[in-house]
Amino acid sequence: MEQNDCRLCAYLAKGAPSNVLDGVMGDLLVDCSICGHAAISEDARDAIDDERVSREALRGYIRNKGSAKKPIRIEAKDVPEIVREGESRLEVLDKLEHFLLLVAARSKQGGEAVGFSLSSDYPLVYARSAKEMGWMLRELRDESLIVSETATAKPYARLNTKGWERVAALRAASGAGRRCFVAMAFGDEYRATWEAIARAIALVGFEPHRVDLKPHSELIPMKILADIRRSRFVVADITGHRNGVYFEAGFGMGLGRPVIWACRRNNLRRAHFDVKQYGMILYNDPPDLAEKLEDSIRAQIT
Ligand SMILES: [Zn+2]
Repeated sequence: MEQNDCRLCAYLAKGAPSNVLDGVMGDLLVDCSICGHAAISEDARDAIDDERVSREALRGYIRNKGSAKKPIRIEAKDVPEIVREGESRLEVLDKLEHFLLLVAARSKQGGEAVGFSLSSDYPLVYARSAKEMGWMLRELRDESLIVSETATAKPYARLNTKGWERVAALRAASGAGRRCFVAMAFGDEYRATWEAIARAIALVGFEPHRVDLKPHSELIPMKILADIRRSRFVVADITGHRNGVYFEAGFGMGLGRPVIWACRRNNLRRAHFDVKQYGMILYNDPPDLAEKLEDSIRAQIT
């Protein structure tokens, strides 16, 4: 239990006397190294009581949304969101992922060491204690996602390449990642195919994305690699058998993105490898492709 004069700390501590907030009318002003900076309205405090909001959820919310420069004001209408955010961090794995994303968000550049104080920053990562936060740091280090000096009360965390890769995957896989990268041949003869693919992807609620290149270009610009990295999954139509399509699909697979393969039935003979193992969609024409692709996305991605 924390020993300080923060009223929110006292309020959140188990077994606290019920009168810790006696005399506090209107907003409860919080300015605490553990709880963060907030102004909590009276009706919000009632709702927090009624909903039995956990301290991890409440402090995690304040620490993640507020800052020393701009205290966050919490009203009763914010309480359901606080509960929801807290519940999404109940599992240890969720906390570890959130920790990793936090280090990434605080890294202005690659190689930056992001400092923490175990005794006051543990609510930031939804840990229950400084001890749990220390354990989380060691786990991320042992997974080779970060470099960290953990034998201190003020450790740092520095993402390494594997850590940045995981961050890219987490960002792409999160609800924010609605993009689908389409790897396919270009040219007028493929326009109807592209329209069918784009329609199927959009119908399932994702955003089709492709990079228009000069026909027959064998260059894979960095932009394409970055676009694939930002995508939730890849649709690769190998009809026409452009090298770039195979390369882009392989890059997506290497990043752990699901890849949905497709090929026009009368074009399969020329495929560069035995594609049967990938569960290829074989289609007769664009409407057939749209229908099969929609089913496939619903089954594999959503
Ligand atoms: Zn406090």
